[in-house]
Amino acid sequence: MPPRVDHKIEDGIETKRCGVCETYKELSQYHRVNNTWDGLFYACKECWQVARTSNTRKRAVEKYNGLRRRVSEDERYIKRGVQVRVSLEEFVDWYKHNYIAGGCVDRKNNDGHYEIGNMQMITHAEHNLKRRGDRLKSIAVVEAPGTRYCFDCGTIKRESDFYQTSITPTTSNPKSLKECCKDCAKEKRRKHYSDSKLK
Ligand SMILES: [Zn+2]
Ligand SMILES: [Zn+2]
Repeated sequence: MPPRVDHKIEDGIETKRCGVCETYKELSQYHRVNNTWDGLFYACKECWQVARTSNTRKRAVEKYNGLRRRVSEDERYIKRGVQVRVSLEEFVDWYKHNYIAGGCVDRKNNDGHYEIGNMQMITHAEHNLKRRGDRLKSIAVVEAPGTRYCFDCGTIKRESDFYQTSITPTTSNPKSLKECCKDCAKEKRRKHYSDSKLK
């Protein structure tokens, strides 16, 4: 954090020096924060916006390189012939408009490519649930209403045999149930404790 620089009164208006562009601007040109001496962010709104945009771009480029790597090195993608059919600039633009904090780039149709129209930004929780649906399909398990499959013990159980979690309910998991059944959850906890005792 840059050192404290006192506000200046210019033409009867209180101004603050931006730590980035170093110009004095009206206080309304700064975002409010609660960890600085004057309750204002050290950089002006304009500079903050520029920094934010370039950070988003940086993240987008990293994601893009990650996708390219994935489709050329990961067997599961190679087998399915998944390709990145979007240029870096197209991707960066798409990413900026669809960005959500902590989100990941998902393909709507799992057999489709990374291309505009088949990409969507979803949260990791949603992504895991989508993967759950795909995994069930791959082992031909159909969950009847009120039942849920536990991947740990490979059993279809009643929904009441699963603990509820604090994760946000979604359409595919409206009751926020845990991935594994109560028995498996207890077993995991027991194992965890006995493992930690050994250390
Ligand atoms: Zn500035
Ligand atoms: Zn289980």
